[in-house]
Amino acid sequence: MNFDYTEEQSILLDNLRRMMDTAATPEYIREHDENGLYPYEVYEAWVAMGLIGLPFPESYGGFGGNVIDMALVGEELGRKAYSFLEAYGLSVFSGLSLLNNGNEEQKRIWLPRLIKGEIRMSISMTEPDAGSDAGNMRTLATRDGNDWVINGQKVFSTAADARNNVITLYCKTDLEAPYQKGITAFLVPNDTPGVETRRLRTFGANMLGLNEVFFDNVRISDAQRIGAVNGGWNCMLSGLLFERIVTSAGYVGNAQTVVDQALAYAKERKQFGRPIGEFQAIAHMLADMQTRVDASRMLMLRAAAKVAKGEPALREVTEAKLFGSETFVEVANQGMQILGGYSYMMEYDMQRHYRDARSTTIAAGSSQMLRNLIANTMGLKVR
Ligand SMILES: Cc1cc2nc3c(=O)[nH]c(=O)nc-3n(C[C@H](O)[C@H](O)[C@H](O)COP(=O)(O)OP(=O)(O)OC[C@H]3O[C@@H](n4cnc5c(N)ncnc54)[C@H](O)[C@@H]3O)c2cc1C
Repeated sequence: MNFDYTEEQSILLDNLRRMMDTAATPEYIREHDENGLYPYEVYEAWVAMGLIGLPFPESYGGFGGNVIDMALVGEELGRKAYSFLEAYGLSVFSGLSLLNNGNEEQKRIWLPRLIKGEIRMSISMTEPDAGSDAGNMRTLATRDGNDWVINGQKVFSTAADARNNVITLYCKTDLEAPYQKGITAFLVPNDTPGVETRRLRTFGANMLGLNEVFFDNVRISDAQRIGAVNGGWNCMLSGLLFERIVTSAGYVGNAQTVVDQALAYAKERKQFGRPIGEFQAIAHMLADMQTRVDASRMLMLRAAAKVAKGEPALREVTEAKLFGSETFVEVANQGMQILGGYSYMMEYDMQRHYRDARSTTIAAGSSQMLRNLIANTMGLKVR
């Protein structure tokens, strides 16, 4: 595998790093995290540099980037804060789901608007009684002439309340169909009459925020349905490998920042007359942290390389997401230890890294579900 960047990728990363250094300063991130503010200004800067369009075909206003380009971007965004990767990923993953499953007219209407920043997107799948077992969802869309009427409730929907947001909503359209077979995907702008979002109080992920979303007789047109009726599960699966690679890249980026900040502190902070990094206990923690982050990056790039070649990569992608998220949690925990009492202070970023990391072994496929999946690729039958 060749992990060298092409010239275009190096230019893209240089531009992105410069843009993020200017737009996402430490003060900006701290203010938005502490006050639960969506990073609109940073998102607009991505739009301006064409980043939202990166993975989309030129015919819709995009740039035709591949999964490796997206992995590099994912790591760079994650370096500042994992939440940036999430804000970017929600829009791009939803757009790709539309690209892969929508009809030509839908793509012509929605994708240029997404790429130009007129809309952003989020995903609502999870419900109070349907988490890992998403097929058990109960939010129901009922056909009424050329419309659908939606009733129900979603939970933990990241950034669903953001300005100009369109929700990729997964609903039951057939309660009798076995399990995942009766689900359909729809596009629902969050200002549609009958949609109500309510921000939840959370431990981390404050910049984007998690929401309950209520649907009370929400009427939408059949033109807002993506893919076949009862074909929503396949719609969700169609982008899963790509999404998990880019998400894993975000973990790597934020985990690398944790190591960088812990290392800088260990070189600076003196106790007993010498930098704490000269105590073997601390030095070995840092060596283990960097090794784990490098291993996460290799797993992620290996998975991306296989997907880019069109090879089957379910196990490789799942390993990258599992190991990357657990590494992020582990290094953030060790980073807290290395910064001692200062890690606990809100003016140090380590507490935010730790809070944001903690959700990553739960969301988008928990560690337990991912281990089940890996075991199944090994010929076991885990449920
Ligand atoms: C920060 C954050 C952001 C999120 N963003 C979104 C979003 O934008 N949109 C959205 O739709 N959802 C979102 N979610 C929801 C997320 O996808 C769910 O939390 C996740 O699927 C787990 O569901 P649950 O929380 O109901 O836990 P449960 O499914 O109830 O699981 C509880 C525990 O049981 C374990 N478990 C469950 N089933 C099994 C099994 N078969 N084998 C072994 N262990 C099992 C789980 O691993 C976990 O440890 C988000 C969650 C978080 C924390």
